[in-house]
Amino acid sequence: MMADGSEPKLDTSPHVSDEVRKTTCYMCACRCGIDVHLRAEPDGKMKVRYIEGNRDHPVNRGVLCAKGSAGIMQHYSPARLRKPLKRTGPRGSGEFQEIEWDEALAIATDWLEPIRRDDPRKLAFFTGRDQSQSLTSWWAQQYGTPNYAAHGGFCSVNMAAAGIYTLGGSFWEFGTPDWERTRLFMIFGVAEDHDSNPIKIGIGKLKTNGGKVIGVNPVRTGYNAVADEWVGITPGTDGLFILAMVHELLRTGHVDLDYLCRWTNAPWLIDRNPGETFGLFVRDGDGKALVWDRATNRAQPFDKPGLKPALKGDFPTPGGGRSTPVFELMAQKYLEPEYSPEAVAGRCGIAAATIRRLAAELADVAFNQAIEIDQPWTDFRGERHESFIGRPVSFHAMRGISAHSNGFQTCRALHILQVLLGSVECPGGFRFKPPYPKPVEAHPTPHRGARSKGPLNGPHLGFPRGPGDLALADDGSPARIDKAFTWESPLSVHGMMHMVISNAAARDPYAIEVLFMYMANMAWNSSMNTAGVMEMLTAKDESGEYRIPKIIYSDAYSSEMVAYADLVLPDTTYLERHDCISLLDRPICEADAVADAIRWPVVDPATQAEGRDVRGFQSVLIDLGARLGLPGFVDDEGKAKYRDYADYMVNHQRRPGVGPLAGWRGRDGDQFGRGEPNPEQLERYIENGGFWMEHLPDEARFFKPFNSAYQDWAVKMGFFDKPQPFVFQLYVEPMRKFQLAAEGHGERQPPDHLRDRIKASFDPLPVWWEPFEQAAVDSQEFPLHAITQRPAAMYHSWGTQNAWLRQIHGQNPLYVHGSVMEAHGLKDGDWACLTSPHGRIKVPVARNDALNPHTVWTWNAIGKREGAWALDPKAPETQKGFLLNHLIHELLPPKGDGLRWSNSDPITGQAAWYDLRVRIEKAEPGAEVSEPRLGRQKSPVGQGPKDVAYGEGWE
Ligand code: SF4
Repeated sequence: MMADGSEPKLDTSPHVSDEVRKTTCYMCACRCGIDVHLRAEPDGKMKVRYIEGNRDHPVNRGVLCAKGSAGIMQHYSPARLRKPLKRTGPRGSGEFQEIEWDEALAIATDWLEPIRRDDPRKLAFFTGRDQSQSLTSWWAQQYGTPNYAAHGGFCSVNMAAAGIYTLGGSFWEFGTPDWERTRLFMIFGVAEDHDSNPIKIGIGKLKTNGGKVIGVNPVRTGYNAVADEWVGITPGTDGLFILAMVHELLRTGHVDLDYLCRWTNAPWLIDRNPGETFGLFVRDGDGKALVWDRATNRAQPFDKPGLKPALKGDFPTPGGGRSTPVFELMAQKYLEPEYSPEAVAGRCGIAAATIRRLAAELADVAFNQAIEIDQPWTDFRGERHESFIGRPVSFHAMRGISAHSNGFQTCRALHILQVLLGSVECPGGFRFKPPYPKPVEAHPTPHRGARSKGPLNGPHLGFPRGPGDLALADDGSPARIDKAFTWESPLSVHGMMHMVISNAAARDPYAIEVLFMYMANMAWNSSMNTAGVMEMLTAKDESGEYRIPKIIYSDAYSSEMVAYADLVLPDTTYLERHDCISLLDRPICEADAVADAIRWPVVDPATQAEGRDVRGFQSVLIDLGARLGLPGFVDDEGKAKYRDYADYMVNHQRRPGVGPLAGWRGRDGDQFGRGEPNPEQLERYIENGGFWMEHLPDEARFFKPFNSAYQDWAVKMGFFDKPQPFVFQLYVEPMRKFQLAAEGHGERQPPDHLRDRIKASFDPLPVWWEPFEQAAVDSQEFPLHAITQRPAAMYHSWGTQNAWLRQIHGQNPLYVHGSVMEAHGLKDGDWACLTSPHGRIKVPVARNDALNPHTVWTWNAIGKREGAWALDPKAPETQKGFLLNHLIHELLPPKGDGLRWSNSDPITGQAAWYDLRVRIEKAEPGAEVSEPRLGRQKSPVGQGPKDVAYGEGWE
């Protein structure tokens, strides 16, 4: 209503755009389809005016979040890098000279070529949260260095590894609850910036259908805030809570025995004869695991049709010893009093009665509300079934339970719970998205064989089957600069990016020459011990040379890490480049459909004449590959094989007929999955809205790993070259092989100081131990847990320079429970000092009672360093924003044994971000700015305008 009482005249259908181009969002890892509205400006250039969701897209079906619509501000951000940069001042100063691409690429080639000839290990190439790992890993493999990984080691490798070793796939992009049919959904420790819109849409659907959502998280934000029940668990105790529910299900007999017999290794026989085979599966002469068949009263291969396998008992083995089924060992273990709800309640901060009730609710929905879909299908044993039986209970989890030093076994425990309920790959349960699940056997093992001017002898990363697959040099020393796949972290299947800088600066296990990184803000929010990492990046040796001699970094924005590079290769924004969301990488599939997608330049890249000359990193990598003459990047005459990334997306073949994109293959574009390259493939994607999708045949939709129709379809689509059926692994035999080595068996054994740790942690059935940092510190001195949550409105650090999103989170208080506030005389807006065994920060506080009372928390990656991201140096992000990272160290506090143990999971090496213990004290009156203050970097892109206006003539 206007002041004069009249209604305002609103134009409800303004002329928004002249053209709509459909591509894929990159404002978070969710990869929604977007319609980008463009309008022709007087100069003829098309400008982005508006972004909305693509209603036909399988990921978001038109839904767009605040981040997605704010992509417009990301694209026109003043923090965008403009040209290649050559460092002129000391590292970290931010002093650079802009150079042309020819010079930048010549410098990079001059640095990379000699070390490839001399010793390819001298290159360490690590990428952050990019979505082109199938290209970057292949590039590194062709270069020949073993030192490659992406960021999984400091993110959620525990979840990924536990999923693959147990189920052949994991949560987040690799599977989904069956939103249409699930009745009870339990979600653990999930940030809202992954799989975001599908989960929001799914929760809405589930609630509309009358289902229940249970959120398990120390903090009640995001999904937990809309949950029907919130379980405010104490950090690091999720595994104990889950195993107590397993205890209850076993005690009350609420497990799906038919499912366990048919689709898991529950009946597989375990060798119980002391010696080098103790604890391994009993196998026949062909290597097939055996079960005890009650019908024939003898041991039979597990995949023989018509078996009646025993789940308990003591049985003879073909070799004359004794054996026991996996299920009996499980039942014995988890029925022990130590896993009873009463025994774990105090530690978990959850009443025993609540644990018991939740287990009963899971069982009630799984077994009393079972569903059935009439659809005949045939399993891999050749047995015919008339329907799919569904258990409508589903789970989802991510970094919250993963980023602990007990995270791998916790994630395994959750998968065991799902399987006991029979709720994986069934109607109403958790379902995989093709090409998952894939058994461990379908994944590579790690490779380390580097040689002068030659490619590595296989993929860097993989899934070790036993000690023989560790990446150790002949003398037993680590083969990789990050020390992945060593006895300290044998199953570090995503590498250990968080250890690269400290190891490279220490020149341990060897010196490198070039550190090459992409999209990883290691000098700020992506590192533990942030100030220490800055020192390592600038450390010099006795001769005055940097201990890490050369650093190449690629980013689209002026992040804190840019200032620490010697050479900066400026990337484009996501609206200016080609990208490929590939089945060879992280798929965007649905449980019922296979799908992939592209990005393409919906906006013309800025030109040199406009003062901004940037190139998509993937195209730059392909250019460098050709300049270096890497195999696969040049033809027989040594000429570049691919013009750019778009050309690679269309013409590269990883195996005959299988390339980065599965849609519209074959010369005529009429083949899918497999087929020759199609020169018009990208045009077909663009015509179709930027994605391709094909539904599974009805018979193939459920029970994928055991379903013959799915297996045949997967071969046709090119996921496998032959059917790869498998059963879920409750008991993980490769883990037992590491234990056997620690017990003194086999040629490759761990050093003595690690034997006990491997024996204890590599239990082939999940166990729980107190997180290492919590066990190492005095709980009286550091009584609180401290964790971060990812804001729904931001994707890591990138969102905090976005003019629209900054209005949602311009600063981050430390949220403290009311009881702790009162005990320390704190009120909203006060300043407090937070101290860990490693450091101290000064922060503003705010009361938050929707919180586990022994925990404090803050939003992740809001704090910024002065001078970075083109922000005003006095912006709230730099003055009041802060990072918890300063309190976390990559090493544990000294234990007095002369060793500094890594602050990570002993199985996978996952960084244990959430094990942090702190104490809080009211700060002395003084300047109200967050601490530590780390000084101002010079900005290579200047500072953004004070106001950003959206409308006519804006930019
Ligand atoms: S959920 Fe992520 S990918 Fe989807 S619109 Fe939002 S920011 Fe974009």
